[in-house]
Amino acid sequence: MIKAVRGMKDILPPETARWQQLETVARTVFACYGYQEIRLPLLERTELFSRSIGASTDIVEKEMYTFLDRHGESVTLRPEATASVVRAFIENRLDQGAEVKKFFTIGPMFRYERPQKGRYRQFHQINAEALGGEAPELDAEIILLLLDIFARLGLTAIELVINSLGCPRCRPAYLLELTALLARQVRDLCEDCQRRSASNPLRVFDCKSKVCQEMLAQVPTIADHLCDQCSWHDQRVRELLNRYGVPFRHNPRLVRGLDYYTRTAFEVVTTHLGAQDAVAGGGRYNGLVKELGGPDIPAVGFAIGEERLVALLSQQEVTTPAPPLVFVAVLGTAALDRGFDLVQTLRRQGCRAEMDFGQRSLKAQLTMANRRGAAYVLILGDQELAAGEAPLKNMASGAQQVVSLTDLTAIQAALGGKGA
Ligand code: ATP
Ligand code: MG
Repeated sequence: MIKAVRGMKDILPPETARWQQLETVARTVFACYGYQEIRLPLLERTELFSRSIGASTDIVEKEMYTFLDRHGESVTLRPEATASVVRAFIENRLDQGAEVKKFFTIGPMFRYERPQKGRYRQFHQINAEALGGEAPELDAEIILLLLDIFARLGLTAIELVINSLGCPRCRPAYLLELTALLARQVRDLCEDCQRRSASNPLRVFDCKSKVCQEMLAQVPTIADHLCDQCSWHDQRVRELLNRYGVPFRHNPRLVRGLDYYTRTAFEVVTTHLGAQDAVAGGGRYNGLVKELGGPDIPAVGFAIGEERLVALLSQQEVTTPAPPLVFVAVLGTAALDRGFDLVQTLRRQGCRAEMDFGQRSLKAQLTMANRRGAAYVLILGDQELAAGEAPLKNMASGAQQVVSLTDLTAIQAALGGKGA
């Protein structure tokens, strides 16, 4: 037996219905906020990610699916979408015009991580990116959009955490101070953080080790080092969230796993998924478009992890597939042929119709219809074909009525009008 690659998961019914539901809700909300869909390749040049995400991040250091193609060019299966959106934005000259450009994209990402609950090597994200706007209103708007998606899905067990990561004007001074502090206590840090303290000091705040956490609780945070503009921006975002009654927690130690963030950074976390507690993450990335060779324009975005969102939603309620409205039971080959026709016609009218092609007994077909939860069963045999009419049984009440096989409108009416 050939099995799926480790960390790559099949998404099966009935869970797929949940995926459709959340993507439909996301699309509806995106339309309200003026976000348009963009569809991008899964494969990009490796350089795109090493330059944007940052060479000394976990993703670039050890999580990327990178290989040489047949011409010896280094390519990578995308570990995230923002870099690709920015690449497409620059390449296709989407920056024309003064307005903010808003995009969303839905699809798989690839990271070579240790597979466990809520962590896969192929996973899926819903991404939103707004390019060309500097205003704190845009940060607030995109956070409200994200929370609207969760609200429409009826998700309650979540918390919004926000922070400001400063900008190239105020962050370097803080990083110097942090690096010096960490250097003094470097022997108390875990192995990973010893490395990070020199290469990417902010990342130490993301460390799960207790010893590091305790030590970091004493360290000053970026919050006390923000420049006036960053501080004003941060205040305005929080004021807008407050105005819309959005509860959030300010965590001055929140950092993100990607280097390109500036100012606002946020995460939506839950206490219901164990260690993998982040359902979505995002923030502002003002320097990225220029860094990748485009115009100097600010941007903000987020990514929702669909697997974790589905897991959360499944905890809240059980999904069952929509049962067929009518099951057509057929007896004999002529009835099978006519039944096939009828089921197809009903389906084209938007009716959930089902049948079985196995030439089983009427009893077996009725059991099947029952198990599938069909509301009605239409029984079709040679006699019915000759008469041009057939009994339609209401499975809940047991009531039976005869319907004409040539009058589709009558059948639909008998199905409670729902067949139309
Ligand atoms: P984590 O801290 O859990 O590793 P992250 O900060 O690496 O998450 P992002 O790069 O911000 O994640 O991606 C956004 C969202 O994508 C996360 O909040 C999470 O829901 C989801 N996600 C990230 N990595 C994985 C993965 N390997 N498997 C499943 N979902 C993931
Ligand atoms: Mg990660």
